[in-house]
Amino acid sequence: MKIIRTSVGLNHWFNEHNIQINKSLGLVPTMGALHQGHASLIEKASKECDLVVVSILVNPTQFNEKDDLDAYPRTMAADVEIAKAAGCNVIFAPTAEDLYGGKPKAEPVNWGDLTHSFEGKCRPGHFDGVIAVVDKLFDAIKPDKAYFGAKDLQQVAVVQKMAQIRYPNIEIVSCELIRDSKGLALSSRNIRLTNQGVKQALKLSFALSKVVEKISAGESEKTAVDAARNELKEYDEIDLEYFNGVNFHTFSHEDKPFEWSHIVVAANVDGVRLIDNIELEVVD
Ligand code: AMP
Repeated sequence: MKIIRTSVGLNHWFNEHNIQINKSLGLVPTMGALHQGHASLIEKASKECDLVVVSILVNPTQFNEKDDLDAYPRTMAADVEIAKAAGCNVIFAPTAEDLYGGKPKAEPVNWGDLTHSFEGKCRPGHFDGVIAVVDKLFDAIKPDKAYFGAKDLQQVAVVQKMAQIRYPNIEIVSCELIRDSKGLALSSRNIRLTNQGVKQALKLSFALSKVVEKISAGESEKTAVDAARNELKEYDEIDLEYFNGVNFHTFSHEDKPFEWSHIVVAANVDGVRLIDNIELEVVD
Protein backbone atom coordinates (compact mmCIF):
# COMPACT_ATOMS: atom_id res chain seq x y z
CA MET A 1 0.00 0.00 0.00
CA LYS A 2 1.25 3.44 -0.94
CA ILE A 3 0.82 6.66 1.06
CA ILE A 4 0.69 9.83 -1.05
CA ARG A 5 0.56 13.24 0.59
CA THR A 6 0.22 15.72 -2.29
CA SER A 7 -2.04 16.17 -5.32
CA VAL A 8 1.07 16.38 -7.52
CA GLY A 9 2.33 13.08 -6.09
CA LEU A 10 -1.05 11.48 -6.76
CA ASN A 11 -1.02 12.66 -10.37
CA HIS A 12 2.47 11.29 -10.90
CA TRP A 13 1.43 7.95 -9.51
CA PHE A 14 -1.69 7.81 -11.72
CA ASN A 15 0.33 8.69 -14.84
CA GLU A 16 3.18 6.33 -14.04
CA HIS A 17 0.79 3.41 -13.77
CA ASN A 18 -1.74 4.51 -16.42
CA ILE A 19 -4.24 4.08 -13.62
CA GLN A 20 -7.21 6.04 -14.87
CA ILE A 21 -7.06 4.31 -18.27
CA ASN A 22 -6.53 0.66 -17.40
CA LYS A 23 -8.08 0.10 -14.00
CA SER A 24 -11.38 0.63 -12.30
CA LEU A 25 -10.86 2.99 -9.40
CA GLY A 26 -12.83 3.12 -6.16
CA LEU A 27 -12.60 6.09 -3.79
CA VAL A 28 -13.44 6.01 -0.08
CA PRO A 29 -13.36 9.58 1.29
CA THR A 30 -12.73 9.76 5.05
CA MET A 31 -11.56 12.11 7.77
CA GLY A 32 -9.38 9.40 9.31
CA ALA A 33 -9.67 7.92 12.82
CA LEU A 34 -10.70 4.82 10.93
CA HIS A 35 -12.84 2.08 12.49
CA GLN A 36 -14.74 -0.97 11.25
CA GLY A 37 -17.40 1.27 9.67
CA HIS A 38 -14.75 2.75 7.36
CA ALA A 39 -13.18 -0.69 6.89
CA SER A 40 -16.49 -2.06 5.59
CA LEU A 41 -16.53 0.64 2.88
CA ILE A 42 -12.93 -0.13 1.90
CA GLU A 43 -13.67 -3.88 1.78
CA LYS A 44 -16.68 -3.31 -0.46
CA ALA A 45 -14.67 -1.01 -2.73
CA SER A 46 -11.87 -3.54 -2.96
CA LYS A 47 -14.33 -6.28 -4.00
CA GLU A 48 -15.83 -4.09 -6.72
CA CYS A 49 -12.80 -2.16 -8.08
CA ASP A 50 -9.26 -2.95 -9.28
CA LEU A 51 -7.74 -0.25 -7.11
CA VAL A 52 -8.95 1.52 -3.98
CA VAL A 53 -7.90 4.99 -2.90
CA VAL A 54 -8.77 6.00 0.67
CA SER A 55 -8.53 9.73 1.23
CA ILE A 56 -7.80 10.99 4.73
CA LEU A 57 -8.33 14.66 5.46
CA VAL A 58 -10.02 16.37 8.40
CA ASN A 59 -11.84 18.79 6.12
CA PRO A 60 -11.97 22.22 7.81
CA THR A 61 -14.75 23.62 5.59
CA GLN A 62 -17.36 21.15 6.84
CA PHE A 63 -16.95 22.06 10.52
CA ASN A 64 -19.12 24.90 11.73
CA GLU A 65 -17.42 24.95 15.16
CA LYS A 66 -13.67 25.40 15.56
CA ASP A 67 -13.61 23.44 18.86
CA ASP A 68 -15.17 20.46 17.10
CA LEU A 69 -12.53 20.65 14.34
CA ASP A 70 -9.72 20.90 16.90
CA ALA A 71 -11.08 18.00 18.98
CA TYR A 72 -11.52 15.71 15.97
CA PRO A 73 -9.32 12.61 16.53
CA ARG A 74 -6.24 12.15 14.33
CA THR A 75 -4.77 8.63 14.36
CA MET A 76 -2.76 8.25 11.15
CA ALA A 77 -0.54 5.32 12.24
CA ALA A 78 -3.54 3.16 13.19
CA ASP A 79 -5.44 4.32 10.08
CA VAL A 80 -2.68 2.97 7.84
CA GLU A 81 -3.04 -0.50 9.41
CA ILE A 82 -6.84 -0.56 9.17
CA ALA A 83 -6.89 0.68 5.57
CA LYS A 84 -4.24 -1.84 4.51
CA ALA A 85 -6.01 -4.78 6.15
CA ALA A 86 -9.28 -3.80 4.46
CA GLY A 87 -7.76 -3.80 0.96
CA CYS A 88 -6.73 -0.18 0.34
CA ASN A 89 -4.05 0.33 -2.34
CA VAL A 90 -3.36 4.03 -1.86
CA ILE A 91 -3.91 6.36 1.05
CA PHE A 92 -4.21 9.92 -0.22
CA ALA A 93 -3.60 12.22 2.77
CA PRO A 94 -3.02 15.76 1.53
CA THR A 95 -3.15 18.93 3.61
CA ALA A 96 -6.32 20.97 3.14
CA GLU A 97 -4.28 23.73 1.45
CA ASP A 98 -2.83 21.25 -1.03
CA LEU A 99 -6.19 19.74 -1.97
CA TYR A 100 -7.99 23.10 -2.18
CA GLY A 101 -5.06 24.74 -3.99
CA GLY A 102 -4.86 27.54 -1.38
CA LYS A 103 -6.91 28.59 1.61
CA PRO A 104 -9.74 26.04 2.02
CA LYS A 105 -13.10 27.59 1.23
CA ALA A 106 -16.55 26.37 0.26
CA GLU A 107 -19.11 28.03 -2.02
CA PRO A 108 -22.63 28.12 -0.59
CA VAL A 109 -24.95 25.54 -2.15
CA ASN A 110 -28.71 25.65 -1.71
CA TRP A 111 -30.65 22.57 -2.74
CA GLY A 112 -33.55 23.38 -0.45
CA ASP A 113 -34.27 20.94 2.35
CA LEU A 114 -31.65 18.52 1.12
CA THR A 115 -28.85 20.91 2.15
CA HIS A 116 -30.72 23.09 4.67
CA SER A 117 -32.87 20.83 6.86
CA PHE A 118 -31.74 18.48 9.66
CA GLU A 119 -27.90 18.31 9.48
CA GLY A 120 -27.88 21.36 7.20
CA LYS A 121 -29.93 23.32 9.71
CA CYS A 122 -28.10 22.17 12.86
CA ARG A 123 -24.67 22.65 11.25
CA PRO A 124 -24.98 25.72 8.99
CA GLY A 125 -22.58 25.48 6.04
CA HIS A 126 -21.78 21.83 6.76
CA PHE A 127 -22.92 20.56 3.36
CA ASP A 128 -21.17 23.43 1.57
CA GLY A 129 -17.95 22.02 3.02
CA VAL A 130 -18.86 18.41 2.23
CA ILE A 131 -19.70 19.31 -1.38
CA ALA A 132 -16.50 21.37 -1.71
CA VAL A 133 -14.19 18.61 -0.47
CA VAL A 134 -15.90 15.80 -2.39
CA ASP A 135 -15.76 17.97 -5.52
CA LYS A 136 -12.00 18.48 -5.04
CA LEU A 137 -11.47 14.75 -4.42
CA PHE A 138 -13.55 13.67 -7.43
CA ASP A 139 -11.67 16.15 -9.61
CA ALA A 140 -8.25 14.99 -8.38
CA ILE A 141 -8.97 11.24 -8.41
CA LYS A 142 -11.69 10.75 -11.04
CA PRO A 143 -12.90 7.48 -9.54
CA ASP A 144 -15.37 5.16 -11.25
CA LYS A 145 -17.14 4.57 -7.96
CA ALA A 146 -17.16 6.44 -4.64
CA TYR A 147 -18.25 4.80 -1.41
CA PHE A 148 -20.19 6.57 1.35
CA GLY A 149 -21.70 5.17 4.55
CA ALA A 150 -25.43 5.25 5.27
CA LYS A 151 -24.37 6.34 8.78
CA ASP A 152 -24.27 9.87 7.29
CA LEU A 153 -27.56 9.40 5.49
CA GLN A 154 -28.20 13.00 4.42
CA GLN A 155 -24.61 13.24 3.18
CA VAL A 156 -25.26 10.28 0.85
CA ALA A 157 -28.33 12.04 -0.58
CA VAL A 158 -26.42 15.33 -1.01
CA VAL A 159 -23.42 13.65 -2.65
CA GLN A 160 -25.69 11.69 -4.99
CA LYS A 161 -27.28 14.94 -6.15
CA MET A 162 -23.88 16.61 -6.50
CA ALA A 163 -22.55 13.69 -8.57
CA GLN A 164 -25.67 13.71 -10.80
CA ILE A 165 -25.06 17.37 -11.59
CA ARG A 166 -21.26 17.60 -11.72
CA TYR A 167 -19.89 14.05 -12.14
CA PRO A 168 -22.54 11.89 -13.87
CA ASN A 169 -19.93 9.20 -14.65
CA ILE A 170 -19.10 8.55 -11.02
CA GLU A 171 -21.32 5.97 -9.32
CA ILE A 172 -22.13 6.77 -5.69
CA VAL A 173 -22.36 3.61 -3.64
CA SER A 174 -24.28 3.80 -0.37
CA CYS A 175 -22.91 1.31 2.19
CA GLU A 176 -24.59 -0.28 5.18
CA LEU A 177 -24.34 1.43 8.60
CA ILE A 178 -22.06 -0.58 10.90
CA ARG A 179 -22.78 -0.86 14.66
CA ASP A 180 -20.88 -2.32 17.59
CA SER A 181 -22.15 -5.48 19.29
CA LYS A 182 -24.47 -3.45 21.55
CA GLY A 183 -25.97 -1.43 18.69
CA LEU A 184 -24.02 1.82 18.94
CA ALA A 185 -23.36 3.26 15.47
CA LEU A 186 -19.58 3.27 14.99
CA SER A 187 -18.19 6.79 14.76
CA SER A 188 -14.74 8.35 15.00
CA ARG A 189 -16.22 10.59 17.71
CA ASN A 190 -17.12 7.62 19.96
CA ILE A 191 -13.59 7.52 21.41
CA ARG A 192 -14.40 10.83 23.11
CA LEU A 193 -17.31 9.24 25.02
CA THR A 194 -16.87 8.21 28.66
CA ASN A 195 -18.27 4.80 29.75
CA GLN A 196 -21.29 6.64 31.07
CA GLY A 197 -21.58 8.49 27.76
CA VAL A 198 -21.59 5.21 25.85
CA LYS A 199 -24.53 4.01 27.97
CA GLN A 200 -26.45 7.19 27.20
CA ALA A 201 -25.52 7.07 23.52
CA LEU A 202 -26.94 3.55 23.27
CA LYS A 203 -30.36 5.01 24.09
CA LEU A 204 -30.36 6.60 20.63
CA SER A 205 -29.98 3.35 18.67
CA PHE A 206 -32.34 1.62 21.10
CA ALA A 207 -34.99 4.29 20.46
CA LEU A 208 -34.59 3.87 16.69
CA SER A 209 -35.03 0.10 16.76
CA LYS A 210 -37.96 0.39 19.15
CA VAL A 211 -39.75 2.67 16.68
CA VAL A 212 -39.24 0.12 13.90
CA GLU A 213 -40.54 -2.64 16.18
CA LYS A 214 -43.65 -0.65 17.09
CA ILE A 215 -44.39 0.22 13.47
CA SER A 216 -44.00 -3.44 12.48
CA ALA A 217 -46.45 -4.30 15.24
CA GLY A 218 -49.01 -1.96 13.69
CA GLU A 219 -48.52 1.37 15.48
CA SER A 220 -48.67 4.47 13.29
CA GLU A 221 -45.31 5.95 12.24
CA LYS A 222 -46.09 9.33 13.75
CA THR A 223 -47.22 7.97 17.12
CA ALA A 224 -44.15 5.75 17.42
CA VAL A 225 -41.74 8.54 16.47
CA ASP A 226 -43.38 11.13 18.72
CA ALA A 227 -43.30 8.74 21.71
CA ALA A 228 -39.60 7.93 21.19
CA ARG A 229 -38.71 11.62 20.79
CA ASN A 230 -40.57 12.53 23.99
CA GLU A 231 -38.83 9.74 25.88
CA LEU A 232 -35.36 10.83 24.71
CA LYS A 233 -36.14 14.43 25.70
CA GLU A 234 -36.68 13.24 29.29
CA TYR A 235 -33.00 12.29 29.75
CA ASP A 236 -30.92 15.14 31.19
CA GLU A 237 -27.74 13.63 29.76
CA ILE A 238 -29.08 13.68 26.20
CA ASP A 239 -29.34 17.00 24.44
CA LEU A 240 -31.61 16.04 21.55
CA GLU A 241 -31.37 18.03 18.31
CA TYR A 242 -33.86 16.05 16.26
CA PHE A 243 -35.61 12.69 16.12
CA ASN A 244 -37.74 12.49 13.00
CA GLY A 245 -39.02 10.44 10.14
CA VAL A 246 -37.60 11.49 6.76
CA ASN A 247 -37.74 10.58 3.14
CA PHE A 248 -34.19 9.90 1.98
CA HIS A 249 -34.72 11.72 -1.33
CA THR A 250 -36.02 14.99 0.11
CA PHE A 251 -35.19 15.38 3.83
CA SER A 252 -38.26 17.60 3.93
CA HIS A 253 -40.39 18.19 7.03
CA GLU A 254 -43.36 18.35 4.63
CA ASP A 255 -43.24 14.64 3.81
CA LYS A 256 -46.08 12.59 5.22
CA PRO A 257 -45.34 9.66 7.55
CA PHE A 258 -46.27 7.15 4.82
CA GLU A 259 -43.48 8.71 2.69
CA TRP A 260 -40.80 8.26 5.36
CA SER A 261 -37.97 5.89 4.42
CA HIS A 262 -35.84 6.35 7.56
CA ILE A 263 -35.88 7.66 11.11
CA VAL A 264 -32.96 10.01 11.83
CA VAL A 265 -31.58 11.25 15.12
CA ALA A 266 -28.93 13.75 16.23
CA ALA A 267 -27.99 14.50 19.82
CA ASN A 268 -25.20 15.77 22.01
CA VAL A 269 -24.21 13.16 24.56
CA ASP A 270 -21.36 13.70 26.98
CA GLY A 271 -20.28 16.75 24.94
CA VAL A 272 -20.06 14.65 21.77
CA ARG A 273 -22.37 15.19 18.81
CA LEU A 274 -23.75 11.90 17.52
CA ILE A 275 -26.00 10.99 14.60
CA ASP A 276 -27.72 7.74 13.77
CA ASN A 277 -30.58 6.45 11.63
CA ILE A 278 -32.57 3.36 10.79
CA GLU A 279 -34.32 2.31 7.62
CA LEU A 280 -38.03 1.64 7.78
CA GLU A 281 -39.07 -1.66 6.33
CA VAL A 282 -41.28 -1.31 3.30
CA VAL A 283 -44.59 -3.00 4.01
CA ASP A 284 -46.49 -4.27 0.92
P1 AMP B 1 -15.91 10.18 8.25
O1 AMP B 1 -14.47 9.79 8.38
O2 AMP B 1 -16.65 10.19 9.53
O3 AMP B 1 -16.11 11.40 7.39
O4 AMP B 1 -16.57 8.99 7.44
C1 AMP B 1 -16.06 8.57 6.20
C2 AMP B 1 -17.06 7.65 5.57
O5 AMP B 1 -17.25 6.53 6.40
C3 AMP B 1 -18.43 8.32 5.39
O6 AMP B 1 -18.98 7.95 4.15
C4 AMP B 1 -19.22 7.77 6.53
O7 AMP B 1 -20.60 7.72 6.29
C5 AMP B 1 -18.63 6.37 6.63
N1 AMP B 1 -18.90 5.82 7.96
C6 AMP B 1 -18.57 6.37 9.17
N2 AMP B 1 -19.05 5.60 10.17
C7 AMP B 1 -19.71 4.56 9.60
C8 AMP B 1 -20.44 3.46 10.09
N3 AMP B 1 -20.62 3.26 11.39
N4 AMP B 1 -20.98 2.60 9.20
C9 AMP B 1 -20.83 2.80 7.86
N5 AMP B 1 -20.16 3.84 7.33
C10 AMP B 1 -19.61 4.70 8.18
